[in-house]
Order: sequence, then C-alpha cells, then structure tokens
Amino acid sequence: VFVALEGGEGGGKSTQSALLCEWLASLGHEVLATREPGATAVGAQLRRIVLDPATGALSPRTEALIYAADKAEHVDAVVLPALARGEVVVTDRYVDSTLAYQGAGRDVDAAELEHVARWATADLRPHLTVVLDVEPSVGLARAGSPDRIEAEPLTFHERVRAHFLSLAAADPEHYLVIDAAAPPQDVHAAVRAAVEPWLAQ
Ligand code: C5P
Repeated sequence: VFVALEGGEGGGKSTQSALLCEWLASLGHEVLATREPGATAVGAQLRRIVLDPATGALSPRTEALIYAADKAEHVDAVVLPALARGEVVVTDRYVDSTLAYQGAGRDVDAAELEHVARWATADLRPHLTVVLDVEPSVGLARAGSPDRIEAEPLTFHERVRAHFLSLAAADPEHYLVIDAAAPPQDVHAAVRAAVEPWLAQ
C-alpha cells in the first residue's frame, strides 16, 4: 500500500506521517516513512541545491528536472523495493507536489510536466493521497525561516493550494482533503479512517 501526504507548507505533513506510521506499525505492518525531495543520497544533494536561497532563480524546466531526478531515484531505490517487500510506504510529498509547485506555481506546461513526472516515477501512483489543506498565509507563518520556494509570494502559494484541491476534486476515490487547521489528533483520525480500507486489499 502506497500513501502520499500532500499540501502546502505548514500543514503538518511530517507530524501526520509520524502518527500514521506509528498506527500502521501498531497494527503489525512493516512501514516505510519517506519524503520528497531528499530521501536518497543523491536526493539529499538535489534538495540542498533546489531549496538553498543562494541558488537563486532557476529556469522552471531546470527546477522541474531536478525534482524529477529526485523522484526517479526515490521510486527506483526506495519506494518500489519497499512495496515489493510488502511494506506500507508513506511519503511526505510526491508527484502532486510537482504538478502543484512546478506546474501551477511556475507555469510550466501541465501536460508536459505530468509526462515528465510520470516517466520519472515509472507511473507509480499512490493508492491514497491525503491533502492537508491549509491557508497559505497560515501555513507559511508556521513554517519558520523560508527556503527558496517558501520565499515565493503568497499568490504562488495560493495557486499551489488551488491545484492540490483540484487534483483531489477530480479523483475522490484516491484522495482525502483534510482541513489542516483541525487538532492533529482529529486530522490523524480522519487519515486513519481513509487508509484503513486500503490495508484490507
Ligand atoms: O515538505 P518540505 O518542506 O520538505 O518541502 C521542501 C520544499 O520544497 C518546500 O518549500 C516545498 O514547497 C518545495 N517543493 C517544491 N516542489 C516539489 C516538492 C517540494 O517546490 N515538487
């Protein structure tokens, strides 16, 4: 089973990933918690490059390809092997972050970007994507000192948020949208309820 946590900054993805993985382990599942960008050795280097404010402006295609390279390594070296071992994989960000940030955020052609991101990930799709939805002004205030992407204007983050919501609205069977302003234990309960049916398959 493959679960992705998505959403803007400051929505509590890492907290929810930890709570979800703890619950899955308590049920006896082998669990792998992972994230994008940066889950592999090369990914950690790519993450540094793409998030360091000192990197400055990048061509939108360069940025998209750096994220795509991180994804290819992540899927081939981490996610697919874990799924093959029968583990439940929980990733903090996945393809939808690219569609939202590099697509809606940066204005890269959506169809071309999706093609690149699907190629990078061998078209591996999560069973369930949980969107932790947060108002960008609230989320960014929670997120601490801004990385290169967080430093983008509020309108960028508003486009990103709208894109996550539209992806979810188009495929309700595979998405759950949760108001991330709710108490973490309530959010966790909603995540659990959505993940549970997939565990039985
Ligand atoms: O979730 P996390 O804080 O680790 O994400 C790292 C940074 O990378 C965030 O600023 C996020 O907005 C950005 N990001 C991005 N495009 C992606 C994935 C993450 O701009 N595809």
